[in-house]
Order: sequence, then C-alpha cells, then structure tokens
Amino acid sequence: MAFILANDGIDAAGKAILEAAGHNVQTDRVPQEALADFLKENNVAALLVRSATQVTAIELASGTLKVVGRTGVGMDNIDLQTAERLGITVANTPAASSRSVAELVMAHAMGLMRFLPESNREMPTHGTTEFAKLKKKFGNGREVEGRTMGIIGLGRIGRMTAQLALGMGMKVVAHDPFVQNCEIGFNVYGFGEVTVPISTRPFDEVLAQCDILSLHVPGAKHGAVIGKDELWKMQRGAIIINASRGGVIDEQALLEALDSGHIAAAGLDVFVNEPAPDPRLLNHPRISVTPHIGAATEEAQERIGIELAHKVAACLG
Ligand code: NAD
Repeated sequence: MAFILANDGIDAAGKAILEAAGHNVQTDRVPQEALADFLKENNVAALLVRSATQVTAIELASGTLKVVGRTGVGMDNIDLQTAERLGITVANTPAASSRSVAELVMAHAMGLMRFLPESNREMPTHGTTEFAKLKKKFGNGREVEGRTMGIIGLGRIGRMTAQLALGMGMKVVAHDPFVQNCEIGFNVYGFGEVTVPISTRPFDEVLAQCDILSLHVPGAKHGAVIGKDELWKMQRGAIIINASRGGVIDEQALLEALDSGHIAAAGLDVFVNEPAPDPRLLNHPRISVTPHIGAATEEAQERIGIELAHKVAACLG
C-alpha cells in the first residue's frame, strides 16, 4: 500500500480505482511551501497534480516519490528534467479532454455565427425597451452547414474538432507540417463507424478558404502562429477560434482585424496574460470569451481521473 497525495484533487472514479488497489489517497490540499516536507514526512509515493501545484526540484528531491501524475495535457508546472534524472515517472492523460475542447470550439463557433455573445450582453439592458431593434440587429445569423472549417494543428484536439465539423455538415481543410494524411473516424448513432480521409493543405490555402479557423497547435514558443499578415490572408467575414494556448494569436493584431471589420468575430478560451487577460478582449462585442475551460467538463474529469489512476497504480505495482 502506498500513500498518494492528489494535491489538486482527483475525480471520485479515479480515487476509487486507487483505493481499490489498496492505496491511501489524500485529497486535502497541502500548501506549496509545506509540500516538500509533507512528502518526506508522510513517505508519499505518488503526487498527483493539475496546474495549480508546482512540482519543482525541491518537491522531487523529497526522496520518496516514485511517480508524479498530471491530470490533463500540459506539463509546464513539472520539472521534467529533474524527474527524469531522479528516475521518477511522470504520467499524464493527453487525450482524455480532446472531446471537451472540441465541443467548446463548436460552441464558440456556432454562438458567434448567431451573435449569441453580443445578444447576451445587450438583451439584459435593452431587451425590454428595444426588442424589435435587437431582433433586427441579430437577425442575419449564419448556419455552419456547408461552411468551411479550417484547422491549424491536426493532432488530438484538431482531429476531434474536424470530426464534429464534419458531423455538422461542414467541409474541413487542415494544415499541420507534421501530418500529411489522416482518417477521421466517427460513430454515426445507429449506423456504425464512418471514416473520412483528410489530407493537409498549405497554411495559406487553409487561411484563404476557411469561414471559421480553429487553432490546435502547441504553445507559441517562437511567436504567434496567427499575426497581422495571416489574419489579412483570411476571407473577409471569417471567424477565428483559439482554444489552444494564449499567444498563438497575436492579440493586438486580432483586435485591429476585428475593428476593421475584416474578421467578423473571435472565440477565445485562452489568453496571453492569464489569469489577467487584456480587458479589451474581454469587453469586445464580437469576441466570445471563456476562462480557459476547454478541458473542464464532468466527462473529461472522469476520463482523466480513471486514466491517471490506472497509470499511477501500474507504476506503483
Ligand atoms: P497534439 O500534440 O495532439 O497536437 C498538436 C498538433 O499541432 C500536432 O499534430 C503538431 O504536428 C501540430 N503542430 C505543431 N506546430 C504546428 C504549426 N506551427 N502549425 C500547424 N500545426 C502544428 O496536441 P492537442 O492535445 O491536440 O492540443 C492542442 C493544443 O490545445 C495545445 O496547445 C494544448 O495545450 C491545448 N489545450 C487546451 C485546452 C484548453 O483548456 N483550452 C485543453 C487541452 C489542450
């Protein structure tokens, strides 16, 4: 039996798996400054974290850890080099939240096509006095069926977004320098598995063709993937969604493209300066905003908890 500290919590289903394997799981949070001592004093074998707890060389040096588990994708809060040097296994659950992120992308896209963010901002203040005016203002929405979804980054979330877009009757064009072809498989309820082949296209071709552009690349270490030039290569009236990482879009260039009318609207789940994003983005009438909740669904948390529990239990033998 091992002592496992799930310092940022773990879904009940994952906790149950670890307890059924005979382990003792604590979910009460230990403050960051007390963590290293706590690990040592309690002989903690596995430390499970989300993004809040930092797992630095100090915590890793406790001498008791066999495994660090990260619920979700990013590993920014874990000192991977030190973990490797000390022979501590680091496990994560990269695919468990792809569906949740892709569904949020479609929610932003469809909301923007029908002006939902702007309508939601204006109805509470003007809905009783200017109903007819707002009905006219928001009365020329667009359907997604038959439109083209452009996807930059055809990895786990990009493919899931492609699947949803295809399911909505959209055409999909994608760019990924490391993927040439892939097959998007999905289950049509009651009719079984359908597979659609996708070949990636040059970046500029995707920019020029899409009605909605969705970004699914890793964090932008070398600057924005979408800047002023790229925005102006897109069709006038296009919509852009970023649920990947802040900085993948140049935020200033986006504001200018929106204000010029060239880009019709944007959906942002991620921001450069989290947790204090630029207020101009938050208050823009044509930006749909969410506070980095792409992966945050009940279903994803359960899948993440179960997958991580199995990986950690296997590591602990
Ligand atoms: P992934 O590694 O499966 O896919 C990323 C893809 O991007 C890869 O296929 C890679 O070849 C491609 N790529 C790399 N550089 C590129 C470039 N310059 N142009 C085009 N394609 C490029 O990753 P994923 O799991 O699909 O995650 C995608 C993004 O979503 C990541 O930034 C991740 O951090 C983010 N994410 C956000 C949330 C959220 O809450 N909003 C949740 C999970 C993941």
